[in-house]
Amino acid sequence: METSRADFSDWYHSVLEEAEVIDSRYNLKGTYAWRPFGFKLRTLVFGELRRLMDETGHDETLFPLLIPEDQLMKEAKHIKGFEDGVYWVTKGGLSDLEVPLALRPTSETVMYPLFKLWIRSHADLPLKIYQIVNTFRYETKHTRPLIRDREISTFKEAHCAHPDQKGVDEEMELIRKAYDDFFAALCVPAVVVERPEWDRFPGAVKTVSWDVVMPDYKTLQSATSHDLGTGFSKTFEVMYENEKGEQQLCHLNSHGISSRIIAAVIGVHGDEHGLVLPPAFAPIQAVVVPVVFKGDKKKIESAAKKVFGSLSCRKEIDTSDDNPGAKYYRWELKGVPVRIEVGPRDVEKGEAVLVRRDTRQKKAVKLKDVDKEVAKLLAEITKSMKKKALEFHEQAIANAKSRDSLREADKAALPVLVPVCGDAKCWGKLEGSMKRLEFRGTVLGAKPSGKCIGCGKKAESIGLFSNAY
Ligand SMILES: [Zn+2]
Repeated sequence: METSRADFSDWYHSVLEEAEVIDSRYNLKGTYAWRPFGFKLRTLVFGELRRLMDETGHDETLFPLLIPEDQLMKEAKHIKGFEDGVYWVTKGGLSDLEVPLALRPTSETVMYPLFKLWIRSHADLPLKIYQIVNTFRYETKHTRPLIRDREISTFKEAHCAHPDQKGVDEEMELIRKAYDDFFAALCVPAVVVERPEWDRFPGAVKTVSWDVVMPDYKTLQSATSHDLGTGFSKTFEVMYENEKGEQQLCHLNSHGISSRIIAAVIGVHGDEHGLVLPPAFAPIQAVVVPVVFKGDKKKIESAAKKVFGSLSCRKEIDTSDDNPGAKYYRWELKGVPVRIEVGPRDVEKGEAVLVRRDTRQKKAVKLKDVDKEVAKLLAEITKSMKKKALEFHEQAIANAKSRDSLREADKAALPVLVPVCGDAKCWGKLEGSMKRLEFRGTVLGAKPSGKCIGCGKKAESIGLFSNAY
């Protein structure tokens, strides 16, 4: 399995199938099934996200999938961004429906009519809810599992209502930290940018996104957070009564993370032997492999079972009849962080051999210490996966100070940071001069120096150009 830049796409597709994350053989383009192993990974990843949502004061909910046409069409700016990507249900049984129903591409227009009923006074604010559901987009571009799907199987979307802009600003700051923590837990570095006006979420006044550099040097938008202003609340009459008894519009914001985050984890950490999973999210954290060639099978298997019993992490034991090589291959492919080999010579010495998945380094430990040593190793693996991913991230993104070096990055389709002024027209012009890169936005919290690479005026921010998924 190759992971070089040119072969990333092939590697990605085969690792998803061979490691049994998903099965994309379902007879409908852009849709797939999660297999048991992949579903466990998904549960662990979205479990952590759910924990972060709850911790930051969001309540989980569940809204309908179908949206009546007139309701979806109510917000003009919003629908303009989605109209060519909506699936429609037009029949109920044998009869045509009076009002066609859309499969949610996102849920603003599902939730806000109910927000109108739920919110009466300032005492009802802030309202902060989320749901983890599937959404549908009729993608006409090349589909790619977990990255560009027609049925996005997993989408955590949160929607919040506040009395004023301050509430939105504070919420976006809170989410900035929560998402940063989430990416850190996954050992996945990201560039956090504010999207230019022409690339905002349809209906938003501000969009922030977390872009991850994949092994092919393309960036993957892996999370977003939007300030929706008061546009939607005007349309859907989401109002509240303030302390003076006046009717006010709510300020809304939303933020989302989809199954793309799992593509980012797989892409960023994988290698030529398959998946490499951060220990906290690996469905199996350690696998015990009895190494039986000939001779004392019983003795070795009983020692292996004892080791297995002593483990306190998520564990597996491979007592299949396959030869050790086949067993190693299988568990490496699935990205199990630690393999515990128990062979005849190890048992004689009262030891087992721990093999870490990320570096494939081996270490002999006493049988009675295996559980403790595995726990230590899992922590070390997390640390070094984080470091390795950050090193790739930092070397992958070039810094350009001149138009020439920006042009070079464009030619090679490499992500690049450049000093820019505060004028979106200038960014647009720069993007227009690119062949392969697009302007992804200005880096949040960046401290620029020097001059705008476009117009030569004083730099006010740092812009990210990249070839995006
Ligand atoms: Zn400029």
